[in-house]
Amino acid sequence: MLRDLIAIPSINPRDELSFARPFGETAVIDHLEDVLARSRFDVERQTACPGRDNLLARVDGVDPSRVLLLESHVDTVGVEGYRGDPFDPVLRDGRVYGRGSCDDKAQVAAMVAALADVTSSGRPQHTVLLVLAVGEEYNFTGARALVESGLGADGAVVGEPTELQVITAHKGAVRMRCITEGVAAHSSEPSAGVNAIYRMARVLAALERHAGALVGRQPHARLGTPTLSVGTIAGGRDTNIVPDRCVISLDRRVLPGEDSGTVIAEIQRAVLDDPGLDFPVEFVVDLADHPMETPEGATITRSLCAACEAVRGHSQVSAVRYGTDASKFAAAGIPSVVFGAGSIRQAHTVDEYVEVEQVWQATAVLRRLLEQGLLG
Ligand SMILES: [Zn+2]
Repeated sequence: MLRDLIAIPSINPRDELSFARPFGETAVIDHLEDVLARSRFDVERQTACPGRDNLLARVDGVDPSRVLLLESHVDTVGVEGYRGDPFDPVLRDGRVYGRGSCDDKAQVAAMVAALADVTSSGRPQHTVLLVLAVGEEYNFTGARALVESGLGADGAVVGEPTELQVITAHKGAVRMRCITEGVAAHSSEPSAGVNAIYRMARVLAALERHAGALVGRQPHARLGTPTLSVGTIAGGRDTNIVPDRCVISLDRRVLPGEDSGTVIAEIQRAVLDDPGLDFPVEFVVDLADHPMETPEGATITRSLCAACEAVRGHSQVSAVRYGTDASKFAAAGIPSVVFGAGSIRQAHTVDEYVEVEQVWQATAVLRRLLEQGLLG
């Protein structure tokens, strides 16, 4: 199943409006709809945005009063620079190679296989909602649509490559652009214009001071301090023109306990309250994503740890720095953890792979979780 999924390209189309192969998730969602229908699941498509559907399957449990959400994403990052054919799923030395192998198709396969296994001979303990979502790699489009549709559950396991660790905390992120405007003029007479790049230099100095102050803050026990990094800059049209516009983009990682709205206001104040800034600066927020922190005593954490212990003899709770769909569910009131086969170090790489043994283990742990249900 994993190799079939890798062979169907599903690169996140970002903001593209045409989803010509290898972009877009439709082909892989169509394929998974067939796979789920063959297991006689009730399958439903949910349009996340035009041309892109999440796939939902619901299986009633022995005890239908509680709902367990299993979610993983079907989109992948791009394949620029990939070594070999990213869509030819090679099995070698106990690994499956290919784009999406560990991020996130191994988790899709493990979740589908675990649910199909359990339902082939009975029912899960609690009702299971399996969601195969679009759009995780950029803007969390699928998860956002799910939450907006009023999705409810008593706990969620979000599939990502965690090396079979149970992840209970991760950072969120705010991504913004800052724009300065000037007045274009011939470069032989700069005083006739206003230089938008000089203006941006003052914005950058203010942001660098703000970034320095952030790393001096009280660190989160597992995730360190908040960080801010300016990632891109663009401005000017030619060497002989005084630039009338400059744009930078920045990435601010948000810790559990921080609020994205407050973080955005802080950045704006750090810039606009700077005494050297006597000109307007425009801010555009491109992403305001939540952090996540689920208590170790939470039912979902204890339940998944118990399933890990039953299958593997041990469990490990940990935190990661990257963002996932889980924080969207957590913010909507669904206690969530992240779990799956493979390592994030192999995700987004030019020779992405996943250890087959870990995929079997992840499947066995999820199967156990479905049989055992959420603990009391
Ligand atoms: Zn992923």
